Amino acid sequence: MDELSHINYCQTCGTGLVRKFDRDKERPYCKICGTFTYVDPKVAVVALLTYQSSILLIKRDIEPHFGKWSLPSGYVDRGESVENALIREVFEETTIRSIPSHYLGVFSGKGPVVVHVYVVTHKSGTASPGDEVSEVKWCEFDEIPDLPFPYDAEIISEFRNYLSTI
Ligand SMILES: [Zn+2]
Repeated sequence: MDELSHINYCQTCGTGLVRKFDRDKERPYCKICGTFTYVDPKVAVVALLTYQSSILLIKRDIEPHFGKWSLPSGYVDRGESVENALIREVFEETTIRSIPSHYLGVFSGKGPVVVHVYVVTHKSGTASPGDEVSEVKWCEFDEIPDLPFPYDAEIISEFRNYLSTI
């Protein structure tokens, strides 16, 4: 199972695709159209929503990682700005209005998702569970639990570096 294993049919003509070597690796190839299929990464946002010395965590009410505490996050729609996706996802998951205050960085290279991470400041509203979330909690910076997604440990490490500079 790799990132291309679900790409089985040509999007132009519907023919079953084969694997063919293209420069550096095998890619899905249509013998009828004579073209390779290139698969773009998915773009996601993660929000470090802070208030005083705490950060907001959500308990996931959806797979993957159902029932685990996590950072507010979600996918960027095509045509949507990254910043808008961030504000939208925070509101959908926590009902809080927020503003990005610091760009922490981009995390990539582990699988299909490229993640842009922002420190986000509470603007208005009270944290309560929104879409696909069963609980929310403000967690002290030094009590952040292990989080389930591939970049979470790096993100929290970078966040701690950032906190030491402010
Ligand atoms: Zn084709």
